[in-house]
This record gives sequence, structure tokens and C-alpha cells, in this order.
Amino acid sequence: MSASKSSSDNARNVLMDKIVSLCKRRGFVFQSSEIYGGLNGCWDYGPLGAELKKNLKDYWWRRMVRDRDDVVGMDGAILQNRSVWQASGHEKTFSDPLVDCKETKARFRADQIFYTPAIIGGDSHGYVSITESPSMEEEAQQKIRKIQKKGGIKGEIAPLDLKPLTEATAEERAQIPSPNATEPGTLTEPRQFNLMFKTYVGPVEDDKNVTYLRPETAQAIFVQFKNVLETSRVKPPFGIAQIGKAFRNEINPRNFTFRSREFEQMEIEYFCRPEDGMRLLDEWLETRLKFYEEIGIPRDKLHILDVPEKERAHYSKGTYDIEYEFPFGVQELEGVAYRTDYDLTKHQEHSGKPLEYFDPNTKEKFIPHVVEPSAGVDRTVLALICQAFDEETVTNDKGKEETRTVLRFAPRMAPIKCGVFPLLKNKPELVAKAREVQEMLRVHMNVFYDEGGAVGRRYRRQDEIGTPFCVTIDFDTLGENGDETKDTVTVRERDAMTQERIAIKDLLGYLLERIS
Ligand code: ATP
Repeated sequence: MSASKSSSDNARNVLMDKIVSLCKRRGFVFQSSEIYGGLNGCWDYGPLGAELKKNLKDYWWRRMVRDRDDVVGMDGAILQNRSVWQASGHEKTFSDPLVDCKETKARFRADQIFYTPAIIGGDSHGYVSITESPSMEEEAQQKIRKIQKKGGIKGEIAPLDLKPLTEATAEERAQIPSPNATEPGTLTEPRQFNLMFKTYVGPVEDDKNVTYLRPETAQAIFVQFKNVLETSRVKPPFGIAQIGKAFRNEINPRNFTFRSREFEQMEIEYFCRPEDGMRLLDEWLETRLKFYEEIGIPRDKLHILDVPEKERAHYSKGTYDIEYEFPFGVQELEGVAYRTDYDLTKHQEHSGKPLEYFDPNTKEKFIPHVVEPSAGVDRTVLALICQAFDEETVTNDKGKEETRTVLRFAPRMAPIKCGVFPLLKNKPELVAKAREVQEMLRVHMNVFYDEGGAVGRRYRRQDEIGTPFCVTIDFDTLGENGDETKDTVTVRERDAMTQERIAIKDLLGYLLERIS
């Protein structure tokens, strides 16, 4: 592997560290239960993170539900009757393969451990293993070189052939060391670990009262399909949309909020005639890609994976993963899946309740087929932050070069739309006018009033949290330099750092046009 690959991996880690640290420092994301040492896989959104997340969810709801005639919303319970999870197959099969290292006590997902032959010929030395990462090829090679050097082992380094541990034969597995051990024989056999959090309904903790925190929002939609159909003026093709929490007891939460144990999903189940499924799958992919562009994630940072049949759920006739180029690798943001009539059929079977639709035009009954765009809120928020993060060298007031950190959010996603500053905090007339402007704007958008420090410093603080506009009230506003500039303010734009003089009466229109 070339030196440039290594330095680019390093740069990506540094970038991710900077993003995580900014998130904490400015109140986007905190470790959950931090003062007690945290809870692995759980995160709390601080004041700015909560605004960002809300903007994302509201915009999704607006574009996917309110702007369309064919999609309605619902808000289902997190706890459902256990039968839901039995019918959907989650109780039996919603699991990941788990392996333990007996020596180091580390725990891995078997499909996230990759192995490759190490040295061939000479004193042949079996395999090395490594956990999945964008730099795993290089890390594997380093590991092999180390083994060779340390042990003075002769023979040739084998060509790299990384495969997931789940593909290893029993014989191979016996020779594969754990990623953090050197000698083989410490990894346990992979065993299936169910990802659902189990709980009990009511005071008695026995098997009759077991249920689970939902691992996806979709099932509540399927089981309420008939109620929605009968109470709303919709008929196939139509969709039911939902945003809500989901819980998965992930074996290895990692990459900041990317893989969490508690997270939120934005899902649509789109019900249609069987013959329209494949066409609608492609249409929904386009609709969703357009959405990402609208929130500021450019198409060229998204990858579309047409999931091969052997990796799809057995009932899916087609699945696209929409992936984003995160600093830690290209990873899934959303799955768009054609699920056929699998879910409704299963629930009809298990509940004994008919879930067909009678089409009055064709006079036939059928179980609708379903196309499901299923997106992660937290992963999209993380993508928005990664995409927005930028550092540039600028010259400050004193003529010195400094680094400007700026989050270049699309204005409609920005947690704060406008900063409002009086030029000086000890001039009551400036403060009063600035408060007036704040009151006028806050009805329409999230504004932030700041009177502390030099205006340049205040701009920088807003740049760092992605505020697209800042308004400064100065002596010109008060009319001290003539009537021409009276009741005008300076509007400073985040990205180009340009400043414009705008009349207060035009300010709201000016901002609304640029933020909605
Ligand atoms: P992965 O393969 O990354 O575990 P998945 O294919 O199991 O994801 P789905 O079951 O398709 O995910 O869930 C739909 C969406 O929910 C995902 O695209 C993702 O955005 C989000 N999601 C799933 N699991 C998590 C998690 N542990 N943390 C955060 N978001 C998640």
C-alpha cells in the first residue's frame, strides 16, 4: 500500500476527531450519561444538535408527507404485542453473528472481522485478521510484516485476500487469530445474537409478558395498514410514513453516532399493485436521492449499491443502499427495498385478520406489495455535519493568518438561521434596536442574540455552528450618519463572508427567501 493511502487514512481520522470534538464543544452531540462514564452506543443531542435533527425530520415530513397526495403519516408505539415480532420474523432471525476472543475478552461481529493468509512457504504462518475499516488492507499488511520480522520467519508474504470471518471454513477458523491476539485458537465459534432489547410488560417478569423495544418503525405501519386504509381517503398506490425511535443491541457500536443502540428512523411503506413494485422501487430511489440534494448532500458524495440477490433479504426482489462517503468509509444512510407482499402476508397469517385490499375497479382482492425507503435520522445528521465541516485560512483584523472553522450547512438545515448583534453592548440604543430586530425575526426562524466580544469574534462563533446569516445593528442603523443608512443593518453571509446593507423593513423577506 502506498504512503499516500496511509496519510489519507490518517487525515480521515484527524478529520473525524475534529468533527467529534466540535460536536461536543459547541453542543451538537454529547455522550449519553457522560458524568457516569457514558453508556456505549447511546448519544444525547445538545441544543444545536436537537435543532439540526428537528430541521431534518421536519423537512423529511414536509417533502415526503405534506407535499404529496399519496402519503399519510402515523406515529406508532415503541412497544408492540410480541406477536408482531414473531410474525415479522424478528424474534427468530433478527440477529448478528457474535464471536468472543477468549484471551482478550474482546467481542466482535463475525462479519466485521476480515482474515487473509499471512505467509506462505518457509515456516508457513496461517492467517492474520483485522476489523473492518477503510484502511484494513494496509493494516493487515503491516501486521503480516511485523510477524515476519519479529519471528524471523522465512517465506513469502501471501497475496492479500481479505474475506469476512463468516466465510471461513471450520478448518480455517481454527487457524485464524483474533484481531487483537497473535496466536490462533482464541476465537469462539460464531453464535447468533438477537439484536432486540427484551423487556417485560407489567410487574411480572415471566415469559408470557415478554416483548421488545422495536428494532424498526416499519412493523407498526404494517399492522395498522387496514385501519389507515379504512379511515383515510387513500387507496393503493399510497404510502404510510413514520419517524421514530428504534433500538438495536448492536454488538459493536462505533463510528460516533453512525452505529448506535438507540437511534431514529424515517420510514415509508408504500403499498402498490404487484406489477408496479419494480418500477416504484426505481422511482423511490430517485425521490430519495433528490431529497439528499435538497438538504445539502451532493449526489457525487452518494453511492448507490444495487444489493446483490445473495445479500438481500430472501423476500426482497430488489434493494438499493444509498451510501455516503463518511470520513470513516462509504457507509449506508438509507435502504430502499422492494419487500413484495411478505410483511402483510405474514401478519395476515399470524393474526388471522384479512389484510387484503379490494380494488373496486377491477373487482379483485390482493395483498398490496410494498416499497420501503428506510432512512436513519442520526446517520443523516452525521452526514450533514461531515459534509458541512470545513476549515480555511483567512486573514484576521490584525492582518494575521488564522484558521476559520465553518459548518457550511444548507440554510434550511442550519440550527440557527440568523445571528443578531448590537455593535456595542454598552450602548442602550443599539441593544434596544437589536432586541427589536430579534423579536421581529424570531417568530419566523431560530435566531440567536449575541452581544459579547468583538463583532469579528461573534461572526466566527456563528461560522463554527453553521449560522448562514448575521445581522449587525450599528450607529448607521440609528441614523447617526445621515438618513440614508437610518434603519438599515449589515447582513453578513457565512460562506463568502460578504456584507450587504439591508433596510430593516426588507430584512425578513431577504432572509426568508434564502433559508426556506
Ligand atoms: P446496517 O447494515 O448498517 O446495520 P441495516 O441494513 O441493518 O444497517 P436497516 O435495517 O435497513 O439497516 O435500517 C434502515 C436504516 O436505519 C439504515 O439505513 C440506517 O440509516 C438506520 N440504522 C440501522 N441501524 C442503525 C444503528 N445501529 N444506528 C444508527 N442508525 C441505524
